[in-house]
Amino acid sequence: MTITEKDKMKKEIYLDHASTTYILPEVEKAMKPYYQNIYGNPSSLHNKGREALIALDKAREKIANIFNSRSSEIIFTGSGTESDNLALFGVAKKYQDKGKHIIISKIEHHAILHTAQALEKDGFEITYLNVDEDGLVNSKELSKAIRSDTILVSIMYANNEIGTIEPISEIGKEILKYRRENETEFPYFHTDACQAAGALDLGVEKLHVDLMTINGSKIYGPKGVGVLYKKKSVKIKPLIYGGSQEFGLRAGTENLAGIVGLATALELAQKDKEKENKRLIKLQDKLIASIEKNIPNVKLNGHRQKRLPNNVNMTILGAEGEALLLYLDNEGIYISTGSACTSFDLDPSHVIVALGLPYEYAHGSIRMTLGKKTTEEDINYVLKVLPEIAKKVREMSPVRTK
Ligand SMILES: *Cc1c(COP(=O)(O)O)cnc(C)c1O
Repeated sequence: MTITEKDKMKKEIYLDHASTTYILPEVEKAMKPYYQNIYGNPSSLHNKGREALIALDKAREKIANIFNSRSSEIIFTGSGTESDNLALFGVAKKYQDKGKHIIISKIEHHAILHTAQALEKDGFEITYLNVDEDGLVNSKELSKAIRSDTILVSIMYANNEIGTIEPISEIGKEILKYRRENETEFPYFHTDACQAAGALDLGVEKLHVDLMTINGSKIYGPKGVGVLYKKKSVKIKPLIYGGSQEFGLRAGTENLAGIVGLATALELAQKDKEKENKRLIKLQDKLIASIEKNIPNVKLNGHRQKRLPNNVNMTILGAEGEALLLYLDNEGIYISTGSACTSFDLDPSHVIVALGLPYEYAHGSIRMTLGKKTTEEDINYVLKVLPEIAKKVREMSPVRTK
């Protein structure tokens, strides 16, 4: 791959914020001291260690305030993926004598899906819950899937591909009801909130969750840092052994700059969210309505209202998503097809397939996720070039069927 002079000159419209975001200047500024000055190890007893420990505790408190939880319930990890693994493996390995059944949805991120599949190979039984045509999990159906040996339910807060927001609080209530009626503490309830963290409320009590994952890289914070909220009463087995960092649940010297960055980013995102959501919804509405009006045979994937304010996922029927991506890339517009993690293979997205849509709908699906710097001018530019590109790609790629 080469970057040409033309590449460097061209307009750049980044519409892939669900894959990752840049770091906000305020976040970078907050992180900086921890690379050069406050470099001590929080486990060291001298002053350099103590000042690092104070910063670590402060970041933990910030996040606990936003989650409405205790500081001791916040575990820092190396990524959203690690937090998801820690939640699933951690509960499964701790409580396998109580039951070996776990429920997840069919549209979970691979960090959950592939972890569940690994547990399946280890002798756990996984129920992959269906979603409706908008990607919604039905809380009553979920409740029916709970068995006496179900130890964990994991349903994402908002989907990374189609933006659908799941009824987490409702699901949480159903699980509480099951526990009450059956006089059991199981199943525990985990939610992957990586995509939701920048836009939705994260109060764990209102959500009725026992475990929750977030990360830095989707909320204008650093990559390679995550959080797992774990209710005090829930016990887990660690994935990583070594020192006694993170309450003995995640060994290894803390990524203090990353942790401070994540806490700062989360605070900023949560503070701005109402205003920013409003702004994004306007752009989102315009993008969806204009595509529906100006390009024939398109379909919006995901729920029309219950969706993240920055997510637009459309199928342009009869056009290859990958070809659309490349033509848009050539215009300086960066989008994704399906999930970024699967963009190296041509398997249809498991999320689009789970909506019950035929194979060719998955292949023609593109995701545009807006961000803090996305302007109306950007959207107008996309709307100017997309119909032409869609027409061109449709002419060259006849609908692929299985
Ligand atoms: C990005 C993402 C992850 C993985 O987070 P990493 O920090 O990249 O490991 C997990 N779940 C969801 C929903 C995500 O969007």
